[in-house]
Amino acid sequence: MLFPFLKPDLPEPDAWIGYLEEAYRQKYFSNFGPSATRLASRMTKTYLRDGYEGILCASNTAGLTAVLQALSVAGKKVALPDFTFAATPQATFSAGAEPVVCDIDPVTWELSAESLAEAFEAHPDIACVIHVRPFGLLRDIEPIRALCRSKGVPLLVDAAAGLGAPSDNTKFGSSDGEIEVFSLHATKVFAIGEGGFIAAPAELLRKIKAAMNFGFNADRTYGDGQNAKIDEFRAAIGLAMLERMDEAVAGRREHAEFYRKVLTRYRNLSIADSPGATPWSNFPVVFDQEVTNQTLGVFSDNGIEVKKYYWPGVLNGYKGNRTLHALPVPHSNSLQNRCACFPIYSNFLPETGDLLEERIEKSMGMI
Ligand SMILES: *Cc1c(COP(=O)(O)O)cnc(C)c1O
Repeated sequence: MLFPFLKPDLPEPDAWIGYLEEAYRQKYFSNFGPSATRLASRMTKTYLRDGYEGILCASNTAGLTAVLQALSVAGKKVALPDFTFAATPQATFSAGAEPVVCDIDPVTWELSAESLAEAFEAHPDIACVIHVRPFGLLRDIEPIRALCRSKGVPLLVDAAAGLGAPSDNTKFGSSDGEIEVFSLHATKVFAIGEGGFIAAPAELLRKIKAAMNFGFNADRTYGDGQNAKIDEFRAAIGLAMLERMDEAVAGRREHAEFYRKVLTRYRNLSIADSPGATPWSNFPVVFDQEVTNQTLGVFSDNGIEVKKYYWPGVLNGYKGNRTLHALPVPHSNSLQNRCACFPIYSNFLPETGDLLEERIEKSMGMI
């Protein structure tokens, strides 16, 4: 494939092996070791507002689960959008809660405040709201924050693909105290293999850390928890990755800008509205018709691997035995069938752009 959907871009061993020296000297390889602690403190400075603190964890999914456990949602309900990856409902089930699946806003593709308000009416016992930042797009989440504030319910944000592009006005965190969780999976922008990063108000982070460590209390009794810790090896890769994030994000922004120019010529698709300072793990578009296997085949025959993402949604996708509550989700049903993502690379070159543009033109003429 000329343009594969993913070109994971992790630091070479030479760049991170040195970061393991201290772990070997101290013979300390996990349980919040020297590299994991150093990386968490650097990432806190780089990405989070004052008053917030971050911690590394095993994956975004494990991080979401640990936060839900720290919020004691077992036996209660958690509202989340239908248009999301399997990790969001799976973390909810793992924490022993029942999802209340809500619809999305057709413009932002994110949890709809209207649908969430209906969910609160129908289920007054909702104990937490999970907002998803689809594709890592960094939108203003104030309407959802305001609703959670008025209900006194904690807000957890699944920002899996959103980490990587800091600037003073886009640092994560707010006075409302929402918790954001990111993925450091090989397919995301801040890529280390498997890993996650949790950002929370400092006082809440202590509880989350306990949930990540088998739920242990100081006296060795234990509450809800699991093992969600990251080891020193992946933290070392993370220290090297942090050093090259600016470069990686700059390359991805160029690639996204290319798509914006080329794809807005076509009237049968639309691109993301107000993407914010997203690091662009891929480039999502919405066609005015269903994206079929035949559509994907046309792109693939022309050398571009285009993928449907967050498809199927939660209600169409989950086939397990857990209890799940749902509101009508017409917008999600429509979007998940029409949405597709183009590849984004961190080393995007002008020559690549010329060839990609030609292949996009050819494909669009055939669908
Ligand atoms: C990628 C993704 C995840 C999964 O993250 P892991 O680190 O692999 O657990 C979860 N939620 C969303 C919205 C994602 O895009």
